[in-house]
Amino acid sequence: MENEGKKILIIEDSELQRKLLNRWITNHGYIPLEAMNLSEAREIIIKDQIDVVLLDWELPDGSGIELISEIFTSSPVGWLPVIMVTGHTEPENLKLAIEAGATDYITKPAKEIELLARIFSALRMKSLHDQLRETAIRDVMTGLYNRRYMEDRIDQEFQRCKRHKHNLALAMIDIDFFKKINDTYGHETGDIVLKRIASELKSSLRKSDIISRFGGEEFVIVFPETGLADATRVLDKIREMVSGLELNSESGQTFKISFSGGIAGGDISKIETPLDLLRTADKLLYEAKSSGRNRIIS
Ligand SMILES: [Mg+2]
Repeated sequence: MENEGKKILIIEDSELQRKLLNRWITNHGYIPLEAMNLSEAREIIIKDQIDVVLLDWELPDGSGIELISEIFTSSPVGWLPVIMVTGHTEPENLKLAIEAGATDYITKPAKEIELLARIFSALRMKSLHDQLRETAIRDVMTGLYNRRYMEDRIDQEFQRCKRHKHNLALAMIDIDFFKKINDTYGHETGDIVLKRIASELKSSLRKSDIISRFGGEEFVIVFPETGLADATRVLDKIREMVSGLELNSESGQTFKISFSGGIAGGDISKIETPLDLLRTADKLLYEAKSSGRNRIIS
């Protein structure tokens, strides 16, 4: 089944309803997650990559409708389909829900076959959306995240780690003498260098680290739940490895590359804003450059 393993979040305060929806979903190869109220739902939406939300209207700590717009701003996957599953049968409620951003609307008692058809349709929308989004958030040259996406992610991770008093490290790195590489070997070779650095970062960092091409030859990496010393050690190992590489230019000449980096954060309790975190990393990067390049300063 193409949709097997998709995560369906059930937000429902009635245990009976939750169990029923859970069973239907599980029977069809989906993975159910459950929230009994809005605050539990918020946590799951930020943490997990949900594919479809089934949302009850009346919940103990508020109305499901309130959650819809929040889902789109706080979810790491961006937009996701929300199916209202509710006892409200009046057309006015349907209108309200759709205007608030719900994708679909089912009235209780829901029927298994109807629910599954709606989920199927929601997943199709989600898949189209994901394809569009991939092109919007990726840097074409390197396949890494682009700057626009990264700025949003930095905000999100910063707020999340601050709220939970977790560590968060941020690195800004810049390829040394990149202009000279372009001038000496041509822009095609410059592109080879960008792609090579991107692939070394991707293969050496953890899946949870967020890597972006932030500017021309500049990359920003976010290390969630990571202290300054650990992030520095990991990045310095990559720096050392990269500076040992021998690359070939388009015309067959061998040359070497290196990068410099600044890392800020770790304990972010005294850092006020995500912008301050970025600025500090940028300042440290500048120090790394002015003190000789091919080094990481934190
Ligand atoms: Mg309810």
